[in-house]
Amino acid sequence: MMIDPFCRNITYLRLSVTDRCDLRCVYCMAEDMQFLPKASILSLEELQRLSEAFVRKGVRKIRLTGGEPLVRRNVMSLVANLGRLVQAGELDELTLTTNGTQLAKHAEGLAAAGVRRLNVSLDSLRPERFQALTRWGRFEQVMQGIMAAKAAGLAIKINTVALKDANDDEFDDLVAWCGEHGFDLTFIETMPMGEIHSDRTEQYLPLSLVRSRLERRWTLSDNDYRTGGPARYVTVAETGRRIGFITPMTHNFCETCNRVRVTCTGTLYPCLGQEDATELAPVLRSSESDRLLEEAIDAGIAHKPKGHDFVIDRNARPAVSRHMSVTGG
Ligand code: SAM
Ligand code: SF4
Repeated sequence: MMIDPFCRNITYLRLSVTDRCDLRCVYCMAEDMQFLPKASILSLEELQRLSEAFVRKGVRKIRLTGGEPLVRRNVMSLVANLGRLVQAGELDELTLTTNGTQLAKHAEGLAAAGVRRLNVSLDSLRPERFQALTRWGRFEQVMQGIMAAKAAGLAIKINTVALKDANDDEFDDLVAWCGEHGFDLTFIETMPMGEIHSDRTEQYLPLSLVRSRLERRWTLSDNDYRTGGPARYVTVAETGRRIGFITPMTHNFCETCNRVRVTCTGTLYPCLGQEDATELAPVLRSSESDRLLEEAIDAGIAHKPKGHDFVIDRNARPAVSRHMSVTGG
């Protein structure tokens, strides 16, 4: 078991398989993003070896993320290999967070590999606005992807970043649309991660406000559903679906945090909102035995901080210099 200094049992690994993406969402990336040199990125075999080491140490759930995980070449071979751990009962769940652009191609393969649920990011149901928010996205392509995932039997949770004056007039539509299709929905507050060449105070919308506005139209009741993560859930009486609120800025969710993140270069970040990190690539590459790797993982967990220090303020620098697309959402 991996128990951190604050007695939290770490059972959840979020693994970023690439920092690259086919979109440039305005809150996530600058348009002219500089990506990591390809040579520094772990191979799929290395990502698998790393995942297996975490599983041996007690991880029960792996989420592949990025950047956009489905733009990594041959990523489906990693998905298939990790899926075998689920089939063997060594892992409870393998899942992904995706922007949906490649889902039409991969939905069936994901289901066949043993993936049961997906988080799909979608900030608008209006094609022109969707394109403006993602800079490069095509709404129809993402819709086709989402519907292919639904048809393949994957349970879908839509992730929507709540953005002041950008998409806050369509939250009711999103609740209704998710209800119609049987999707859960999670709203996320913008987090100050990485330079994006615009002012985050202009985007930031506290979810307490989102919830009170939703309550004018929908009957929301708190429920006990917990994933060990930052979301707090309500049930919508009219649709029967759940809505989650991820409120890193207005509530601190760190006391129950059960997760760590590893980037596509093998950097272990025990906290999304802090700079502490342990480099796993050198130990991974220095020996065929996994002993050093497991020791390095233990050392990283021993440094998991109590919580993040996110602040959104006009004069504040980003809380952490890396973008969300580096650590993985
Ligand atoms: N490309 C995939 C996607 O968009 O779902 C996976 C990676 S993306 C970094 C994961 C999640 O982080 C997405 O739901 C995205 O909306 C969210 N995200 C990115 N930057 C963020 C920020 N600064 N604050 C809050 N959420 C952010
Ligand atoms: Fe790409 Fe996801 Fe970031 Fe959008 S949120 S730019 S889809 S990594």
